[in-house]
Amino acid sequence: MIRIDVLTLFPDMCEGVFGTSILGKAREKGIASLNTVNFRDFSGNKHNSVDDTPYGGGGGMVLKPDPIFAAVEHVLAQSSAGGEQGEHGNTEAVKPRIILMCPQGRTYNQQIAEELAQEQHLIFICGHYEGYDERIREHLVTDELSIGDYVLTGGELPALTVIDSVVRLQPGALGNETSAISDSFSTGLLEYPHYTRPAEFRGWKVPDMLLSGHHANIVEWRREQALQRTLERRPDLLETAELTAKDKQTLKRLQEQASLEQK
Ligand code: SAM
Repeated sequence: MIRIDVLTLFPDMCEGVFGTSILGKAREKGIASLNTVNFRDFSGNKHNSVDDTPYGGGGGMVLKPDPIFAAVEHVLAQSSAGGEQGEHGNTEAVKPRIILMCPQGRTYNQQIAEELAQEQHLIFICGHYEGYDERIREHLVTDELSIGDYVLTGGELPALTVIDSVVRLQPGALGNETSAISDSFSTGLLEYPHYTRPAEFRGWKVPDMLLSGHHANIVEWRREQALQRTLERRPDLLETAELTAKDKQTLKRLQEQASLEQK
């Protein structure tokens, strides 16, 4: 089971998501332990304040280091008291990844999701206001992640984005294991198009191949569609995708077709 703790000032935002759909089921089935910790509870002052004005002046408030360090230390103490063990049941302590959500971090992608899905314990820190005291970044966290080149109000939605993508990769989290395997990016390509009943809708037909019942040909058709879609929408992915000799031949043909169509 993967354990995930989210340090946040808005636990309700996370709890709603943790109780719903695939995450809710993963929690129920004991596939993922999803917890929230309000770091305001660790403010250590009677006003419960967790932020302060920046040294040197300027606008915005900065999250203080002490409540966040104390909240992380609380989670670490709790997990070692709970006897969190290594992968093979050995008593070697699990080293959690402590992840700071921030627009300046490594840009999140499926490869990082797959890497984090192998871990046993993840701790997310969700910011608010102008930013964090730099000592959190320098002396507490193991990772900094951004979900893209834009700025949100807080780290909850980014953390939930990462958590959703990690939990759905846990064995047993999805009803149909194969659906995560063929997802966009998991194969290095975008996924092929899907169709369902009816076979004809408002005159638009499902491709004949999908109705043929010929499994091997369907697999081949889907691979070609995935290659074509990636070529059209995200050609950058083709530089790193694992391609067979046949894929390369198909791509060459698709590229030639596309350049003929442009003429
Ligand atoms: N002043 C900060 C900066 O320019 O880097 C932005 C702070 S933002 C308003 C508040 C918090 O939202 C951040 O500390 C972070 O936790 C979260 N956040 C905002 N955008 C994010 C993104 N693209 N990825 C991850 N976290 C983000």
